Amino acid sequence: MSHVVLNGRAVAEAMLEQLREQVANLRGAGWAPRLCSISVGDVSAVQLYVRNQKRTAEKAEIQFEESSFPATIQQEQLLAIIHGMNADPRVTGIILQRPVPPHLSIKQLQAAIHPLKDVEGMHPASIGNIVYNELELGPCTAMASVELLKQTGLGLAGLEVVVVGHSEIVGKPIAFLLMAEGATVTVCHHMTRNLAVHSRRADALFVAVGRPGLISAEMVKPGAAVIDIGINQVMLPDGSARVVGDVDFESVAGIAGWITPVPGGVGPVTVAVLMRNAVIGATRQKKHYESLFGPGQVVG
Ligand code: NAP
Repeated sequence: MSHVVLNGRAVAEAMLEQLREQVANLRGAGWAPRLCSISVGDVSAVQLYVRNQKRTAEKAEIQFEESSFPATIQQEQLLAIIHGMNADPRVTGIILQRPVPPHLSIKQLQAAIHPLKDVEGMHPASIGNIVYNELELGPCTAMASVELLKQTGLGLAGLEVVVVGHSEIVGKPIAFLLMAEGATVTVCHHMTRNLAVHSRRADALFVAVGRPGLISAEMVKPGAAVIDIGINQVMLPDGSARVVGDVDFESVAGIAGWITPVPGGVGPVTVAVLMRNAVIGATRQKKHYESLFGPGQVVG
């Protein structure tokens, strides 16, 4: 069966192109979006995320500022930094890079970010909005995964969807986003008795587990859309490293109707959604200020 590879880089470029005009309008109104990234400790994966985000922000003409703190920083100190950014009208979006060292509570830090500056869509208020079918701004990876499914042109109403993995940042929000669009959603996890029984029923299969090769061709319905969110580094026999998803791309591509590659699928769209959230956040703050002080108020 012939399949279509869903090209995340092209989808991301198109999204960024659309954002540039909105960013210019906001800048003209005195509300230039400005992202502040907080990272803690010296984690090479985080440095890679930050470099990627910074590069993508430049493409969207969004200001991006990095703040790095030592791994020994305490929860109270970080909370004070976040409160300072919440109070600063020139900061329109706050990104808390993951992971943070184990002595810090990521949940409490995320919840301390003002919901209007929550560009990652991870604040309990943002997650709650999705449950209430307000889908404009949500967790970036989940939003990106759904965006890629939309590229197939499949109608979401009544679509049989299976989501494998139910983490708070990926699997659960994907399920809520799709339920809001009218899909029939089954969520699988490590206690699911027979994963293949569920995955084979899916018109659209989302996989967010972190286990290379978890999904093979015999677990996929012919013609299905397969969205692979997993990111795994595997060692090849020659000793080199390679990044792969959770789906065995070579075998599944032979049966799927659409499939996302790793890398180059969900990843780039995730960063583009972060930039879109940054624009939505800045726009909401502008409206909020204008509702308090009247139109034409400029900050910074
Ligand atoms: P996570 O918090 O570790 O969650 C993994 C999920 O997989 C859990 O819900 C777990 O269920 C489930 N699971 C574990 N073993 C399973 C099995 N054998 N069968 C079915 N489900 C199983 O990970 P995450 O943060 O959601 O990330 C998942 C993957 O996506 C990782 O590879 C991560 O690197 C990648 N990711 C990619 C992006 C991107 O932008 N592309 C962003 C974020 C994450 P239980 O809780 O029941 O054990």
